[in-house]
Amino acid sequence: MGLLALGTPLEWKDAKLQADRVRTLGIQQLLEIWNAYKGNEKDVLLWGDEIEYLVLHYDEENKNATLSLRQAEILAALANDRELREAGGGVPDIQDTKKQKEPLPTYHPEFGRFMLESTPGAPFSLAWKDLLSVEPNMKLRREIAKQHMKPNETPVTFPSFPRLGTKGVFTTPYHPPTGNKSRSQFIPDEAINPHIRFPTLAANIRARRGSKVAINMPIYYDEKTTKPFRDPTIDYERYLYPEDDDVRNGAAKEGHIYMDAMGFGMGCCCLQITFQAKNIVEARTLYDQLCPLGPIMLALTANSPIFKGFLADVDARWNVISGAVDDRTEEERGLKPLKDSRFRIPKSRYDSVSTYLANDPRLRPEYNDLDLVIDEKIKKRLMDNGMDEPLATHFAHLFIRDPIVIFQETLDAPPEGKSDHFENIQSTNWQHMRFKPPPPGGNIGWRVEFRSMEIQMTDEENAAFAIFIVLLTRVILSYGLNLYIPISKVDENMATAHHRDAVLSNKFWFRKNLFPPRPSSRKQHQQNGNGGSSTPGTPSRPGSPASLPPVEDEYALMTIDEIMNGPKDLGDQDSDDGEGFVGLIPLIESYLDTVNVDVETRCELARYLTIVRKRASGELQTGATWIREFVRSHSDYKKDSVVTERINYDLMKLIERMGVEGRVDSITDRLLGKRND
Ligand code: ADP
Ligand code: MG
Ligand code: MG
Ligand code: MG
Ligand code: MG
Ligand code: MG
Repeated sequence: MGLLALGTPLEWKDAKLQADRVRTLGIQQLLEIWNAYKGNEKDVLLWGDEIEYLVLHYDEENKNATLSLRQAEILAALANDRELREAGGGVPDIQDTKKQKEPLPTYHPEFGRFMLESTPGAPFSLAWKDLLSVEPNMKLRREIAKQHMKPNETPVTFPSFPRLGTKGVFTTPYHPPTGNKSRSQFIPDEAINPHIRFPTLAANIRARRGSKVAINMPIYYDEKTTKPFRDPTIDYERYLYPEDDDVRNGAAKEGHIYMDAMGFGMGCCCLQITFQAKNIVEARTLYDQLCPLGPIMLALTANSPIFKGFLADVDARWNVISGAVDDRTEEERGLKPLKDSRFRIPKSRYDSVSTYLANDPRLRPEYNDLDLVIDEKIKKRLMDNGMDEPLATHFAHLFIRDPIVIFQETLDAPPEGKSDHFENIQSTNWQHMRFKPPPPGGNIGWRVEFRSMEIQMTDEENAAFAIFIVLLTRVILSYGLNLYIPISKVDENMATAHHRDAVLSNKFWFRKNLFPPRPSSRKQHQQNGNGGSSTPGTPSRPGSPASLPPVEDEYALMTIDEIMNGPKDLGDQDSDDGEGFVGLIPLIESYLDTVNVDVETRCELARYLTIVRKRASGELQTGATWIREFVRSHSDYKKDSVVTERINYDLMKLIERMGVEGRVDSITDRLLGKRND
């Protein structure tokens, strides 16, 4: 999460009165940053991942795995240990010399009081040795975290705790599901990180919306599941809070698992990758070009088939988070005519990207085909101060949102030289890509974050997907690839990515020809290896619009196997420019052929690429498929969609083991491949 300022948070009724002020100050801070950093050149390419963990607690006597609420104590122990080790003291058993050379990893709090986030101690470079250090670094982070937990606690990399919000005991210590902040029927407020920012987020989202959030994920109908499924865990007779009326007013849908609190979403664990580009132009190119990959990578990393103790008919968590922080009023959601709200807003603040933002001649206006809601005054102010239109539009879109948590003290302090008001809006727009301007005063450059991937159960998988994305950015930039499709198609893909087994059962919109037009076929061809590296404010369009094919001819529905590995029959895929679609992994392979890679590195990279390749082809399973099979073949499973305490316990024990050991013979063969593959 972003900033964790301490202070006095405003309740929603007071915060909403300050929303315009925060937006105004936020834009002032953005313009300061823009003016100071827009000319940055030659920033080094750096990148880093974020890994989120659930902290489990085992009750061995009752064979129950629960969520440990000791985040604060564990983080304090980690920070204390870090200080000790930096001072040269420290913990003997992690002082082996190889590990000591790396900067110590860092750990951060998250929304769930049962979560941790870890990042490498310093960002990685593009050097091969850095790529090969990713998985060991992730392993080290897992080990260090574990060393600061009790013997019956463990960190696991699993997106959504299967029994979060069930009627049984799912936290340690146990708390009944009450609390004035979330007012949930299922999750106690004690499961929220007690730092005042987080409960205030939950309470203000609920207050702004005018009801609890309502998340409905379709049930997976198994042989003995009651049909139609009516979520049996809902209490229609609770009268503790006004919001208990929500379910009496139809918040829970038939055939769905119903969830009513921010914790169901923000309690999920993701795998995120942040890149620093050499300049703002390259950062904007990367943002746009990685955007269509968001849903593809969500489907490939799908790892969440269970919610609130039930098998779901989806494989991915994304829409749960989206629903969990949907603070839109009824007017904004289009349920009532606009009166007090400023806009009708089609999406939650956690959702897929709605606009491309590069100043790139390849960005045809037809690609930005959503009815984008923007704050016109903010757009004008940004453009009056020298920002070009695509970027001004992007920020004017983010700034349609209200700040949710405002600390009184920040309103009283001078805004200059800071980014707190800007970040207040920016970092509560949780879209699948994030364009991160430099923090003021430092030497960090323009960054882009890739945010859609689900955390994987093993570090080998997490490293594989991180490295795949890193290599893909190299290919995109050095070949000048063009992945643009209309952004409405990215939205469609995002919905498709949730489907059960989407990787093998569904097709996704994807661009047919990724290569720049060859000079022979386009007279005014102006692309170069950096893909549209025109200077901001001076777009140049190759050819006349008439020379471009209709946008609909540029993309097609493809399987993820085709997107990743290339079509089986190359002959059919030739496009007008005569360049066949070859698939992203073959492109990465041919890129690796052209750069200087030693044999050992190449073999290690091949191991990672093989995981991605085989997931795409179906030779290996997604985590979601693997987990669903585990549940359905468990002796305690009654074919009624219910994931019992015992099934959950056995699943958690197994993924803990996989997290520590990686490949486990016969158990992970279908997930990772055999040990010696
Ligand atoms: P977020 O705001 O998304 O929570 P974090 O501060 O947790 O971001 O960091 C995200 C990742 O970015 C980390 O892996 C970190 O190592 C990496 N990172 C830090 N500085 C840079 C940089 N200058 N360029 C690229 N990545 C960086
Ligand atoms: Mg995080
Ligand atoms: Mg982070
Ligand atoms: Mg952060
Ligand atoms: Mg309580
Ligand atoms: Mg992040």
